[in-house]
Amino acid sequence: MDKIIPYQRQFIDEKDIEAVVQTLKSDFITTGPKVKEFEQRFAEYVGAKYAIAISNGTAALHLACLASGLKYGDELITSPLTFLASSNCALYCGAKPIFTEIDNQGLIDLKDISNKTNEKTKIIIPVHYGGLPFNTKKLRESFNGIIIEDAAHALGAKNGTEKIGSCTHSDMCIFSFHPVKHITTGEGGMITTNSEELYKKLIVLRSHGIDPSKKTEDEPWGTPMVSLGYNYRITDIQCALGLSQLDKVDGFIMASRKLAERYDRAFADNKDIRTIKEKEGQFNSYHLYPILVGNSKVRLDLYNYLRKNNIFAQIHYKPVYLQPYYQSLGYEKGLCPKAEEFYNQVLSLPIYPQLTEEDQDFVVRKINEFFEE
Ligand SMILES: *Cc1c(COP(=O)(O)O)cnc(C)c1O
Repeated sequence: MDKIIPYQRQFIDEKDIEAVVQTLKSDFITTGPKVKEFEQRFAEYVGAKYAIAISNGTAALHLACLASGLKYGDELITSPLTFLASSNCALYCGAKPIFTEIDNQGLIDLKDISNKTNEKTKIIIPVHYGGLPFNTKKLRESFNGIIIEDAAHALGAKNGTEKIGSCTHSDMCIFSFHPVKHITTGEGGMITTNSEELYKKLIVLRSHGIDPSKKTEDEPWGTPMVSLGYNYRITDIQCALGLSQLDKVDGFIMASRKLAERYDRAFADNKDIRTIKEKEGQFNSYHLYPILVGNSKVRLDLYNYLRKNNIFAQIHYKPVYLQPYYQSLGYEKGLCPKAEEFYNQVLSLPIYPQLTEEDQDFVVRKINEFFEE
């Protein structure tokens, strides 16, 4: 069978393998020096004061909400054009997810935020869709609550000179290291923040709510549990891989940007396709390369046509509130018409560092063929 071209995939080299093997032979395979080192290097890379490595991106969102004090009766606003985890984290805390409309780049529409906020609004989670940076600075100017950036797609992306993750205009920012994301640890995640208070809370919540700093002299063996935490720890094995991956991240992003530029050029005169362009000051790190086509029928036919040719494009995303579970909670179709229209038209094309220009040209050729037929 011919090879399959996926929409995304990990890049693992001999150095990554060697780093993991070295850790397996060391004294610590979890909660050892590699976790700390990964956190420090990551914080440095994005320009934040603190970074806390977590078992995965979903757990990172959950902990960020818990550290914010999110609880029953509160509301959390996020984009409907995202992975489920961005709003599930509200449900985990008993809070209510509220969905905003999106703009034509697929980012939260700031104009809709004022319609959705009220005295119950505790947290807003903007999503840097596909690696395209949302302007958190503008949101900060109009919202006094807690802002948690979902940067699962956006490692290395920038607004002007500000890297996503620096938390210059937010309280926390979360990342994912699932194999489809920019760098991988198998499963893994990170929270960055500039707040010492949040950092301390997150460290305790990550490991069962145990706070070693509360140890007393009469119980020197003590592991005082001060809040209801979880086991959301990450292993040293994973962090060794993360460190080795982080060495390559700028190369990954440059490779993806080059591929994006080639797609941009290939579709520049194609009337059947809309691409999403960077605006002034945006530096997209291109986790995804979404294109938009005429309607849901064309999109389904194109999806199937590419699939027949072993090109596994993907759809990002069906608006979260249209998922059966959310429907059962009472969210209705038509809540965010622009997000629904975007969903009907969107398709993510293959984009990852080791995608060859030859394979990319094959993808472009098949898309052109589809529209010529
Ligand atoms: C991948 C992803 C997550 C969750 O990350 P996991 O590490 O898979 O739990 C959260 N938000 C978005 C937008 C994602 O794409």
